[in-house]
Amino acid sequence: MIQVPENARRVLETLNDHGHKAYVVGGCVRDTLLGLAPKDWDICTSATPEEMQQVFRGFHVVETGLQHGTITVVLDHTPYEVTTFRVDGEYTDHRHPDGVQFVTDVRQDLSRRDFTVNAMAYHPVEGLIDCFGGREDLDRRVIRCVGQAEKRFEEDALRILRALRFASVYDFAIEDATARAALKLKDTLTMVAAERIHVELTKLLCGKACGRILREFRDIIAVVMPEIVPAFDFNQHTPHHLYDVWEHTVRAVEAVEPTETLRMTMLLHDLGKPEAFFKDEAGVGHMYGHGRLSANMAKDITNRLRFDNATRERVLTLVEHHDIDLMPDEKIIKRRLNQFGEEALSQLISVRRADRLAKGTMEEPVIREGEAALRQVMRQVLDAGECFSLRQLQVNGRDMMILGLKGKQVGEALNVLLEAVIDGQVNNEHQALLTFAQERCLK
Ligand code: ATP
Ligand code: MG
Repeated sequence: MIQVPENARRVLETLNDHGHKAYVVGGCVRDTLLGLAPKDWDICTSATPEEMQQVFRGFHVVETGLQHGTITVVLDHTPYEVTTFRVDGEYTDHRHPDGVQFVTDVRQDLSRRDFTVNAMAYHPVEGLIDCFGGREDLDRRVIRCVGQAEKRFEEDALRILRALRFASVYDFAIEDATARAALKLKDTLTMVAAERIHVELTKLLCGKACGRILREFRDIIAVVMPEIVPAFDFNQHTPHHLYDVWEHTVRAVEAVEPTETLRMTMLLHDLGKPEAFFKDEAGVGHMYGHGRLSANMAKDITNRLRFDNATRERVLTLVEHHDIDLMPDEKIIKRRLNQFGEEALSQLISVRRADRLAKGTMEEPVIREGEAALRQVMRQVLDAGECFSLRQLQVNGRDMMILGLKGKQVGEALNVLLEAVIDGQVNNEHQALLTFAQERCLK
């Protein structure tokens, strides 16, 4: 029923040949039954860590987490995590078991897993081991805890966010008792390490049902990101927006490509609006400078959630500038390319499209045509190799110094030349630029 790849089968057979039970388990079983390609094939076994080391002597083995019973066997450069059947000890801190205990029955191992759809094991001869109705829940498209939901979330609060993540990624519902327990225990999420929150939140945001989850479970998201609360039901009092700030935000997240940078940017892009808001005499709302305010809030959030520096810097740039002027005009695009670079400008164009689609006041075809026009001009400028940055200018600082410029005059002159090139006043040619500089920059 499940096509187990040859190398994973070899791991199973090697364990079986030594008298141990072994199964593929968890995400790979779930994904294969859903008709998706699993990211990796995890294996669980009755063999203890010492026995695994015996069995896999002569194999390329990495001792990843021996005290939890995990080793990694590498076959043809592909890692396979092999873990001894185990149950978890007491959880006293809402995140880690105080210890683990190795067991001999796969069913016990399955019972410690978070959701029924993640608690299935498979063996090519024995078939599917599914003691908690995971198969049926996959068919019904629901996320349901193994056992008592409250108890399972009390053990490990991260599971609350994982429930939302799986529901978002697969567009599943969250079964009633599981959803109720998640809401009831949401505040225990504050005990979970920021890195793990970050991973789950990113996957949630990139999931195909993220909009529904952000609406339905906004109070859970607010535990890990309290800055979103003022956006809830915040009426913008403007003819440009049909929706309140949170609904606009959710629609903007849905309307952008599912990458971490873009989805996070849309989630954060308008957080400063409630603070920037004021109503004029006519009763119309304005939110000048909210990009800057949102970027400040985004800085705190991305620091707290331990974003890597490159992603954080990019998200902050996109949030701050999400509503800049852009027109399908070569000179304007060149200035923006100089300001942001190719990749960030392309992302800004996506951000702008998503923001507009989420306002509910503009026709979608108009928005899409606007985006296409911007991209076309940008493509033309890039393909033609036209100059938009100091790096491409056919003179450099040394040339300016030879002309007799000193100190900060050098940089100023180069910027004047770049502006002139972008404006079409002078060609980007060495001699022409020197002559231009002599006329304009030397007094
Ligand atoms: P992905 O496709 O994102 O890797 P996955 O289901 O493989 O999804 P992992 O985090 O890799 O998720 O975990 C592998 C398996 O370990 C899960 O399928 C689940 O059975 C179990 N598991 C992971 N995290 C938890 C947890 N916090 N509590 C209980 N079981 C868990
Ligand atoms: Mg996995």
